[in-house]
Amino acid sequence: MAISLDKRYEPSQYEEKWYRFWEEHELFKAQPDSGKPPFCIVIPPPNVTGILHTGHLLPMVLQDLVIRFKRATGYDTLWLPGTDHAGIATQTVVERELAKEGLTRKDLGREKFVERVWEWKHSSHKNITDQLKKLGGALDWSRERFTLDEGLCKAVTRAFVQLFKDGLIYRGFYIINWCPRCQTALSDLEAVHRPVDGNLYYIKYPIKDTVDHIVVATTRPETMLGDTAVAIHPSHKRAGHLKGKTIVLPVIGREMPVVVDDKVDPEFGTGIVKITPAHDPNDFETGNRHGLPRITVMNKDGTMNQNAGEYAGLDRFECRRKLVKFLKQNGLLEKIEPHKHTVGHCQRCETIVEPYLSQQWFLRMKPLAGPAIAAVKNGDVQFIAPTWANLYYDWMENIRDWCISRQLWWGHRIPAYYCQSCDETIVTESKPERCDKCGSEDIVQDEDVLDTWFSSALWPFSTLGWPEDTADLRRYYPTSCLITAFDIIFFWVARMIMMGLYSMNEVPFKVVYFNGLICDEKGQKMSKSKDNVVDARKLIADFGTDAVRFALAIQSVPGRQSLPISEGRVAGYRNFVNKMWNASRFILMNLSDDEGQGASVVGEGAGLTTLADLSALSKEQPLSLADRWILSRLCRVVSDVTEDLDEYKFYEACDVLYQFVWHEYCDWYIELAKLDLYQQNDPDQRTHCQRLLCGTLDILLRILHPIMPFITEEVWQHLPRGARSPISVAVADWPKGDTAFVDDDAERSMAVLMEIITKARTMRSEMNVPPSVLAPLVVYSKSNDLRTLLQEHKDYVVSLTKTGSLTITDDEPQRKHCATAVATDCEIFVPLEGIIDFNKEQDRLRRDLAKIEKNIKTDELKLRNREFMAKAPTDVIELVNMRHKESMDQKSKLKRALEFVSD
Ligand SMILES: [Zn+2]
Ligand SMILES: [Zn+2]
Repeated sequence: MAISLDKRYEPSQYEEKWYRFWEEHELFKAQPDSGKPPFCIVIPPPNVTGILHTGHLLPMVLQDLVIRFKRATGYDTLWLPGTDHAGIATQTVVERELAKEGLTRKDLGREKFVERVWEWKHSSHKNITDQLKKLGGALDWSRERFTLDEGLCKAVTRAFVQLFKDGLIYRGFYIINWCPRCQTALSDLEAVHRPVDGNLYYIKYPIKDTVDHIVVATTRPETMLGDTAVAIHPSHKRAGHLKGKTIVLPVIGREMPVVVDDKVDPEFGTGIVKITPAHDPNDFETGNRHGLPRITVMNKDGTMNQNAGEYAGLDRFECRRKLVKFLKQNGLLEKIEPHKHTVGHCQRCETIVEPYLSQQWFLRMKPLAGPAIAAVKNGDVQFIAPTWANLYYDWMENIRDWCISRQLWWGHRIPAYYCQSCDETIVTESKPERCDKCGSEDIVQDEDVLDTWFSSALWPFSTLGWPEDTADLRRYYPTSCLITAFDIIFFWVARMIMMGLYSMNEVPFKVVYFNGLICDEKGQKMSKSKDNVVDARKLIADFGTDAVRFALAIQSVPGRQSLPISEGRVAGYRNFVNKMWNASRFILMNLSDDEGQGASVVGEGAGLTTLADLSALSKEQPLSLADRWILSRLCRVVSDVTEDLDEYKFYEACDVLYQFVWHEYCDWYIELAKLDLYQQNDPDQRTHCQRLLCGTLDILLRILHPIMPFITEEVWQHLPRGARSPISVAVADWPKGDTAFVDDDAERSMAVLMEIITKARTMRSEMNVPPSVLAPLVVYSKSNDLRTLLQEHKDYVVSLTKTGSLTITDDEPQRKHCATAVATDCEIFVPLEGIIDFNKEQDRLRRDLAKIEKNIKTDELKLRNREFMAKAPTDVIELVNMRHKESMDQKSKLKRALEFVSD
C-alpha cells in the first residue's frame, strides 16, 4: 500500500483526533523525574464567566508554542492550566441571569446565590477547557487549579494572615471608589477614568452676618450637602479677609469655618473651594488636617440619605437637577460653565463610581513595591519588550494602598472575625472558638470577600501547592515565563511580582512577554458596538487551528500593541498550511516504488532524521548541488528558528519558516528533486533522493510543529520511521542547526542558477510565451566560472525554464527579436522568432499599455487632488499609492516588451 495523505487537508478531520492521542499518551504531563531541567508556565487563568474570545487566543497560542518548543529542546515542561473565579465579573453575570427570572441575589440569600454561581462555573468551565483543547494547548490537565479550590483558598487565607501580622494589611474608614450598582468598593484600577462633558457649577455661599458671599465651583453640586468647610490658599487675595469668618451652607444652613490651606489649587474655579470630607479623597485629607467633621449624604445605592434634608431619598443625579434648579431660583447660582473632566466608571457595569467614605481593608503597597521595582531593575524579571519597564516603574513608584475588600458574595471571604461582646478583631486562618480578649463565644466573620486580584497575585505559587512545601513548588518555582496582555500589567503582573517576593522570597517568573491586543484590520479595538468582532470559534472552524495560530504568531513583534486579525489574513495562512500539505503529499506519494510494490523503499533510510545523517548520505552517492544547497539552507533555518524562539521572537521564526517552506523548499527543492525522482533507469539515484526528501521533510515538520501542531502531526505519522522513533512529533527531538553543514559554495552556485531561471521565466511570461512551448534560451557570459556552472547544471535550467535548447556562449548573440534580461555576470536571451506572432503581440502590448496609462492618469489625478488627500482615510490613500507604483512598474515592463517585438 502506498503511503498517502488525503487529497485535501480538512482540519476538523485531524484536530480532535490528535489532541485525544496526545492526551491519551499523557504527552503534556510534566516529568519531574526525567532528569531534564524544568521549564514552567502557569497559565493566565481565564475567567469562568464564559467563553474565550479572540483576544484570549494570542497569549494562549504563544504559550503553547513556547512549551512545545521547550519540550522538544530538552526541557521537562509544565504548562499548568487553571481558571479564575473572577469575583465581581462572574457575580455580575449571574446577577444578570437572575434578573431575567425577576430575582436579585438578595432574594436568594448568600448561600443559595453562591450555589447558583458554582453551577454557572461548572458549565462555563467546560467551554473554556474545550476551547483550550481545540487550540491545541499542551496543558498538563492533571495539575489543573481553580482560584476557589481548597488549596488556593488556604493560600489566600495564609497570605492575608501573614500580611496582617506583618502590619501590611489594615482596616479603616477611607474614601474609596464605590459602585452604586454593584454596591461594592472598587480598587483604583477598577474605576476606569474617562473624560466626560460635564459642567462646573459656581455656587454662592453667604458669609455669616454680612451681605457678602463667596463663590465655590464644583462638578458635583449634590455633594455640597455634605460640606463642612470652605478652604482658601494662603496667597489668595481674599485669604486675609476671610480668615476667621463663618460661612453658611445654603439649603442646609450649616455654619462652617474657612480654613487656610496651601494644598488648595488656586487655579481651580474661584480659588476658594468647598470641602466635603466624606465624598472626595482630597477633601478627606484636608478634613484630617483641620479636624473637620465628615458627613455622608448618600446611601450605598447612590440615593441621598437623611443628611441631605429635603433631598433625602432622591437618586444622586435627580438630586443634582433639583438642587441646581433651587439654587438658580434663589439667586445662589452665579453661573454654569461647560467643563470637560475625567470621571471614574465601574469596570464591570459602567456606572459612574462615587468617591465614598467607608470602612474597608487595605494592603499597604509601598513596602511591597520597593523589592518588586528592584527585581525588574536588576534583571531578575526580564520584560519583553523592555520598554514596558518604564510604565511599570512609573506606577510602582507612585503606588497607593490597595483597597482589597469587596461587598460581594462570590470570592474568598476575609479571614477576620469580630467579637460581638468587646468589638475585638481577630485575624486568623480558621474561625476562633472564643475571643482572645474577653473569652466570649459570640464571634462573627467579616461579611466581605477579597478583591479577585488578591488570589490572582498568588497564582504562580499557590497553583504549585503553596503554602505546603510541595515537590512541584520546589521544582517549578520560580516559573520560567509569563505571557500575558500588557493591559493587565498593574492589575496582575506587578502584584504577582510583589506577592511572589513577599511570600516566596523569589520572583514568580524570570521573563514576562507582553503580547499586543487583537484588533480589527483597521487597527480598531474589537467591540460589539462597532460590529467588528471576529469570532474565534468561527475562525478556527473555517480555517483550522494551525492557520489561526500561524496568523497570530507571525504578527507577534515584541512591543507591538495591536495585532490586526481578519478572515482574509487567516485565509492567507490557510494557503500556507495547504502548501505544506501538498508538498508533504507529493513526497509521501513518491516514497514507494511502482504501484503494487508495497513497502516503502526508504527502508532503512527511515530514521535519517538529523542533518548529519542526511549529509552522510554523500558517502554512498555524491549529493547533488540541490541537495547540498537545501541541507545548507535547512541548517541555517533550523539555527535561526531555534535562536528566534529562544528569544521570544515569534515573528522572526514564523517569517523564516514561511519564506523557506514556500519559496525554497516547495518552489525549488521539490521541483529539482523531481529530476532525480523520475530517474527510472537509475534506481539508486531515486532512492537517494527519496531519503533526502523524507529526511528534510521530517526536520521541517519538527521545527514547524510548535506553530502548527496538527498538520505536522498528521503528516509526521505517515512518514516511514525507525523502530526507536518516538510516538509523536510532539515529543520528537528538535533538530540541531549545526553550522558544519552550511555549504556556502552550494548556496552561491544555486543563487546564480536561481537568478537566471527566474529571469528567464519572467521574460517568458511577460512575452506571453505559452507554458507548453519549449522556447530556446541563450545565456551570454564572459565569465568562465559561470559558463562552467551552467554547463554542469544544464538540466536544472532546461527543466525549470521549459527550454528547448540552451546555448551557453561568450559570443554576443543577435539582439533582434529577442527578449533580454541582465543577471549577475551574464545576459539572458529568449529568441522569440517563430515562438510568438509579432504583430499580434504588438497589438496586445499596446492595448495593455493604453489600459495601464489610463489607470495611472486616474490615480495621479486623485493623488494631486487636495480635497481627496485631506478627506480620504489613510488606508485608501495607501491603496491608491500602491496601485500607482505597481502600474508604473507594469508600464515600464510593457514598454520593454514592446521594444523586443518591434523592428
Ligand atoms: Zn458596577
Ligand atoms: Zn471579646
